Amino acid sequence: MKKDLAFIAKYIDDNADKFIKLSQDIWSYAELPFEEFKSAADLIAALKEAGFEVEEGVADMPTCFVGSYTHGSGGPVFGFLGEYDALDILSQEASNPEFNPIKPGAPGHGCGHNLLGVGALAAAFAAKEYMVAENKAGTVKFYGCPAEEGAGSKQFMARAGVFDDADFVYTWHPADSTEVQSTRSVAIMGGNFLFKGITAHAGGSPWLGRSALDAAELMSSGCNYLREHMFDQERIHYAYMDAGGTAPNIVQERALVKYEVRSPKVADLKKLWERVVKVAKGAAMMTETNLEYEVTMAFSDYISNDPLSLVAEECLNEVGAPQWDEEDYKLAKAFVDSFNPNAQASIREKIAERYGADKVDAIWERPLSSEIGPFIPGCTKYQSGSTDVGDVCYAAPTTQFRVATTCIGNVGHSWQMTAQSNSSIGHKGMIVAAKAMALSAIRTMDRPDVIEEAKKFTLAQNGGKYVCPLPDDVTPPIGRY
Ligand SMILES: [Zn+2]
Repeated sequence: MKKDLAFIAKYIDDNADKFIKLSQDIWSYAELPFEEFKSAADLIAALKEAGFEVEEGVADMPTCFVGSYTHGSGGPVFGFLGEYDALDILSQEASNPEFNPIKPGAPGHGCGHNLLGVGALAAAFAAKEYMVAENKAGTVKFYGCPAEEGAGSKQFMARAGVFDDADFVYTWHPADSTEVQSTRSVAIMGGNFLFKGITAHAGGSPWLGRSALDAAELMSSGCNYLREHMFDQERIHYAYMDAGGTAPNIVQERALVKYEVRSPKVADLKKLWERVVKVAKGAAMMTETNLEYEVTMAFSDYISNDPLSLVAEECLNEVGAPQWDEEDYKLAKAFVDSFNPNAQASIREKIAERYGADKVDAIWERPLSSEIGPFIPGCTKYQSGSTDVGDVCYAAPTTQFRVATTCIGNVGHSWQMTAQSNSSIGHKGMIVAAKAMALSAIRTMDRPDVIEEAKKFTLAQNGGKYVCPLPDDVTPPIGRY
């Protein structure tokens, strides 16, 4: 084992209990986007105790913060992205593969952001310890990023210039496999469409009414026709926020629909959004209702920074995938068994795709990933999901790891993921993620050639400056999303 890895591994292993406890505390708070006050407070307290200076309320978001530690003068500025928000209705007992919510209907960490945040924090602390021990000049930062599951925060942070001084950024996400992420994620834009009509007796004088609900439904029909004429990876989703009341005998004077559209590239995303707006305007015209609309969220697409990712891959291979014991395999099998037949069929397909059809039965019995997947430079394959990490990658060189914290084929945003995010499987994954990120950062510090190449890579993507996909007047929708 190389000296730098030995240092990082020892520091993180020696402090593993403390990091696991912190991830368990944040798991138990399970706070929704922009409400992560206790989670942020615990992370901030840990940063201050480790000697970091902390700026709070960053980019006009109360639960957004940046911790910084500078050693010496000059040297690279780098950081780790941490998330800590939970998801609604996914409450579940820790480590339990039988559905048993702690509080039915309450939020839970069904995306593992309790592990994500603390894993990134541990990486920042380990990098700091190494800089001090080896007397290496530089500044390490922990970016506390709220609300990833809601309207996002990193696009607001990027717009405020939070990443402008960063030479490189590493982050990770809990997953069912271990690798440096090659695939891209698509850009997303969302907002509200409010139709206002005129109320009337639906039986007695319907000719006097103008139905906002009709307008919302026509908008939906229009978007259905639009779907045939979009790029394959584009998506239009919607949810009725207010259908104008519960009485069919009153013409609905108000209807509020939330739309989200996705597209591989931000430029195409904006075009698709404008087409949806045209459909909404048409619906308002047809029904003689008024339309008000606003963009409330948008994330850029994510592209892994190849020069950084190659360093990251080398480091991840040296750290190694999480090591599982028989108890972990048994637990993972119980989680796989807990999914419904449809989900299980899809898990089997995933196993066949990844390991080959002949391995399905064997992996099914021991469904934990114990190898490291390859990084594919220049990969142009897209995942259908979106993340606000995309905005960071347009602002500064950024690379994301995925580390196994769940059974193979696990369904994200599920009670099963909540349970695994506070289990021995989740904790082992978090510790591996922390080591891989810390090692990657301290290796990158010593590689000005990589930093230069990484910056060129970002320059080729952003043309010299981050451009936020949101209109300038859109502020973080705290309490409004
Ligand atoms: Zn997530």
